[in-house]
Amino acid sequence: MKVIGILGGGQLGQMLGLAAIPLGLRCIFYEQADNPCAAAAGKVYRNLTKFAEAADVFTYEFENIPQHITTHPLIKNKLLPPLKPLRIAADRSQEKTLFAKLGIPTVNWLPLPATMPSTPNIPSVEDLADAAQTIGLPMIIKTTTMGYDGKGQVVVRTQKDLAKAARNLKSIVKEHRPVNTPPANIKAKATAPSSPFIAEQMVNFKRELSIISARDRQGNIAHYPIAENHHQNGILYSTYAPALISATRLRQLHSWMEKLLTHLSYTGVLTLEVFETSKGLLANEMAPRVHNSGHWTIEGTISSQFENHIRAVAGMKLGSTQARGYSKMFNLVGRAEPRLAQITDAHLHLYGKQARRGRKLGHLTYTAANKAQLHKISSPMEPHKSFYS
Ligand code: AMP
Repeated sequence: MKVIGILGGGQLGQMLGLAAIPLGLRCIFYEQADNPCAAAAGKVYRNLTKFAEAADVFTYEFENIPQHITTHPLIKNKLLPPLKPLRIAADRSQEKTLFAKLGIPTVNWLPLPATMPSTPNIPSVEDLADAAQTIGLPMIIKTTTMGYDGKGQVVVRTQKDLAKAARNLKSIVKEHRPVNTPPANIKAKATAPSSPFIAEQMVNFKRELSIISARDRQGNIAHYPIAENHHQNGILYSTYAPALISATRLRQLHSWMEKLLTHLSYTGVLTLEVFETSKGLLANEMAPRVHNSGHWTIEGTISSQFENHIRAVAGMKLGSTQARGYSKMFNLVGRAEPRLAQITDAHLHLYGKQARRGRKLGHLTYTAANKAQLHKISSPMEPHKSFYS
């Protein structure tokens, strides 16, 4: 039996572990946090070498993995997806540079400080003013690394916001632990990101979409149907799939994914988040892993994103990514949801995590054979029914 070692022990790890069981495979996890929810799906190790000795192949469920782990002699040559996409996806400026190289359009952006490096890497008001002049207002400043769920972001709408934004960046820098910083007891070289912040033009998008694709070890690629995503307070609230999209845009997304997967010699599941604007599609960011906007695939497709990630990493053929009807997924965020007790017509997933503000505790997926049937389902979780066309 093949043992798959997963770096990280969160809910993505848990769902990967569960998907491995019917394939006759087993997952183990490397995680330092207390009571990781992946423990429900396999043994959790705190000792890196013991973990590394116990698995045949390795993968990851989050991006900001310290370098001393990915370069461990027993792990580095058996890591799938390989190190390159992990490093690129962990750094927004590297990621956008790769998109440009492959001809994948993004919003206008630039690294900060743009021209004059000011005191230790924190952009000054002048730096922000320069950036605003180049890419226009409104703009959004993002940390180059470690950003997730909208964290580490500052919006600058008018010239008047520049001074306040510069102050906010200072407090973000204070809280920000750069990627690749090893724990205090480990001596390893930390690589700082090229620039701590990037500035992006803020776009008026019509929809946020994501595409999830998988590539096996032989280079075969399978795409999941497109997902339409809705956020609340920077956190994914709901996903609807398959989203209605023109054949031209669908072809475009498939070709972007094929370019990325092939260029990166990828094995496993890759996610790309995009903005749909009146002028076309723009890539926002990629995640070299299974993704929250693909949780619907557990019940909504023949082989889920978790199953296909495991299949690819284990050297198996990919399963079918075909949708079984239509699905709507809601994240359960922050607290035990009192409305859950009333819901009996959806697939409930509770990860077994302690409730905490802003924390993803579970999700709920509604499925139906056709669109009309799905829209008829009235969920207490539904705040914006009209979004789904
Ligand atoms: P990100 O961490 O890049 O995924 O950003 C989190 C969320 O902020 C996105 O899902 C969007 O809703 C919003 N956002 C990020 N970048 C932009 C942008 N350039 N223009 C408009 N909204 C954005």
